[in-house]
Amino acid sequence: MVITGREENVTDDAASLLLVVSVMMLYAALLGGPGALIGNFHNQARAGFCLGLLLGPLGWLIAALLPTHYDHLCRTCRGGVPPGARRCMHCGESLGRGGRVRT
Ligand SMILES: [Zn+2]
Repeated sequence: MVITGREENVTDDAASLLLVVSVMMLYAALLGGPGALIGNFHNQARAGFCLGLLLGPLGWLIAALLPTHYDHLCRTCRGGVPPGARRCMHCGESLGRGGRVRT
């Protein structure tokens, strides 16, 4: 079997692409991972991941300072309520049936 120079180039290109993708995944895991963990404390893991990926340790710091995002709001005062809460921590309204709305 005769191997031409073109086939070797294709193999080299595939190896280079694999190396680039591996480095990018490692970069994302090392910088975005801690950002996602820090952002998760404020219910904003995705924002923390992006901040960590783009800004590194500075993004981690910004992720730590993000305001907490709530999935639900109190129907009366529109304040954020954590999952499973029975009363609004802002106005004291009962959050039973219909007491909360999704953001
Ligand atoms: Zn309320």
